[in-house]
Amino acid sequence: MADTILVTRSSMPSLDEYVEEIKTIWDTHWLTNMGPKHNEFAEKLKEYLGVDYIELLVNGHMALELTIQAMNLKGEVITTPFTFASTTHAIVRNGLTPVFCDIEPDTYTINAEQIESLITDRTCLILPVHVYGNICNIEKIEAVAKKYELKVIYDAAHTFGETYQGKGIGTYGDASCFSFHATKVFNSIEGGAVCFRDARLGDALWDLKNFGIHGPEEIAAVGANAKMNEFCAAMGICNLRHIDEEIAKRKMVALRYRERLSDTPGIKISKEQKNVTPNYAYFPIVIDENMFGASRSEVFSRLEKEGVGARKYFYPLTNTFSAFHGRYDVEKTPVALHISKRILSLPIYADLEMKDVDRICNVILECKI
Ligand SMILES: *Cc1c(COP(=O)(O)O)cnc(C)c1O
Repeated sequence: MADTILVTRSSMPSLDEYVEEIKTIWDTHWLTNMGPKHNEFAEKLKEYLGVDYIELLVNGHMALELTIQAMNLKGEVITTPFTFASTTHAIVRNGLTPVFCDIEPDTYTINAEQIESLITDRTCLILPVHVYGNICNIEKIEAVAKKYELKVIYDAAHTFGETYQGKGIGTYGDASCFSFHATKVFNSIEGGAVCFRDARLGDALWDLKNFGIHGPEEIAAVGANAKMNEFCAAMGICNLRHIDEEIAKRKMVALRYRERLSDTPGIKISKEQKNVTPNYAYFPIVIDENMFGASRSEVFSRLEKEGVGARKYFYPLTNTFSAFHGRYDVEKTPVALHISKRILSLPIYADLEMKDVDRICNVILECKI
């Protein structure tokens, strides 16, 4: 049988490059707590992402959780159930109430036209997700936020390095949270960052990621431990040198999938968005069983049998998690429910070979017979 193909494969620099990068750590013995690698990585990211302010965190989840905490909010948060557990958990773990808005059928991002109808006098925040690298309807979201004086935090975990209308995606909203987890387009092993508009948010995050320690004798907030260590920062510095090349290789994979699958009845692929430089983070397809002749589950199982690890991502919706004991009504987000039952994320990573992409496409296309 042919080799197993996983849904993703972490990008890594050569061992030599990484060893060279971490050598100075043996001189300084500075392993964590905002050392020189941490600071260098932050500066380099600021430049790459085209943002004014950035704060590094231990992972993308803590970026979300602490950004919400830093804003000192109470009440309801309008968000999407079509996301990774982290987005909803970050809201609930802050003692806030998620209010789920449905998604758009083509980009899978929050349906911005419906946000206004969900606003109450308890609404404090809008937390949309740029799903799979698809950018939300930013104009509409910002207009609603302005009208009702609400904060906006984007979960930008899928949009590393993307630009919208020529500006870094991290410049939109009050804050944007990135993930540098091993499975993402860009990784620092584990890691995350928040880009934001108001420098005071950075001051708050700086304290919150280090137990709320504001000075040697002043603990000003009930913080967590969410600092990025020097080894992760060094990995990030190395991977950043190669990111453009990695994205260019992912693009080749995405183009091949499009070429092979886009004319197939019953398989839907989202269009590339206007004014967006994409990062090809994921390659999701939506399978309509009636038109295609096989269901998402059948395609998933067939791929699995052939050693191909596709992923039902995002499924289940976060508003159906058993953790929430049926508190949310999934019928209120019918489009999200429809998509989550039919979506399948196909393997994509920089070094995925064209012959493997072809093999994956062949298995999928054979399912309809
Ligand atoms: C990966 C991810 C996160 C969490 O990031 P971690 O770095 O894994 O903590 C949050 N939201 C979305 C949409 C993600 O995909």
